[in-house]
Amino acid sequence: MNKKDYYEVLGVSKDASDEEIKRAFRVLAKKYHPDVNKEPGAAEKFKEIGEAYQVLSDKTKRSQYDQYGHAAFDNAGGGFDMGDINLDDILSNIFGGGFGGFSSFGGFSGFGGGSKTRARRGEDMLLKVKLTFEEAVYGCEKDIKVLVTDNCDKCNGKGGFGEVTCHTCGGVGVIREEQRSLFGIMQTQKICPDCSGSGKTFKEICTKCHGTGQVRENKTLTISIPAGINTGNQLRLSGKGAAGINGGENGDIYLEFEVAEHKYFERHDDDIYLEIPTLTGNGYIEIKPGTQNYTKLKLKGKGIKGLNSKVAGDMYVVVNVIIPTKLTKTQKDLLKELAETDLESEDEFKDFRRSLK
Ligand SMILES: [Zn+2]
Ligand SMILES: [Zn+2]
Repeated sequence: MNKKDYYEVLGVSKDASDEEIKRAFRVLAKKYHPDVNKEPGAAEKFKEIGEAYQVLSDKTKRSQYDQYGHAAFDNAGGGFDMGDINLDDILSNIFGGGFGGFSSFGGFSGFGGGSKTRARRGEDMLLKVKLTFEEAVYGCEKDIKVLVTDNCDKCNGKGGFGEVTCHTCGGVGVIREEQRSLFGIMQTQKICPDCSGSGKTFKEICTKCHGTGQVRENKTLTISIPAGINTGNQLRLSGKGAAGINGGENGDIYLEFEVAEHKYFERHDDDIYLEIPTLTGNGYIEIKPGTQNYTKLKLKGKGIKGLNSKVAGDMYVVVNVIIPTKLTKTQKDLLKELAETDLESEDEFKDFRRSLK
């Protein structure tokens, strides 16, 4: 989705002063605030306004935005994360603390901080795995060590022992306050700071997880890696990532592979090229199409220089054509056709190859 221009969102010109931007934001925030405006889409609009203000009210961010547009704040580009915007903070700054937490209003991050009781999916992880050439070609089993977040086994992920109703909020998880603000008297809600919205506290906090209910643990996973993996391929281990919170799903682990180079074989997609070791380092041989079994290929000068000779001998590579045993019907037919074809020259062979396509 294309983001709207921040200046358009606030309805100001590109050279608007700080004061103009602030004024425009005040008017729009008041109009679209979710406690005031119950129309569909108002919440989204409100968030948009907040984002625009967050950027345009900050000298550095505004100049970055002027230069690069929204790309300035792409996460990949190392900018700031829009998900971190806390509109409550912005509003408090502008309106002087009249805005409490709008926790009655949920739906997107940055508002009210989210309740601890809500089920949340555990985080995904990406692990880089190195394979030898053979492991990648034939497939293998591998033990992989990961540091993963799991539910605390001492308190069963609860965070403590002896659950009691929170005294501060009476078990509802939120605190209501009446406050005077720009819009008159407003009912505001805050997530209870003592129980973080769960409505419950513990007589004794778990010492292993310090009340969080989760611990980081080293685990060893035995992974069956399929044959044919290439560098950059990924494998998803569903549900093996961080444990979910409050009954939420576990995250996934993604394995990304890096295959080591082979001493002789070179992989190009699914094709293999062969490098031949010689007495003076590696050499390449070209095996022409139609090469017969036991053909001798000469690598000139790659042999030994004898005691009394002035030039080195040659090296010979004997081709041993291996006929694959597992063939599809089409492949068998093609080989049969190839055997029956009497090819006089290389050109004829090329024509034949072309005719197969
Ligand atoms: Zn509480
Ligand atoms: Zn614990």
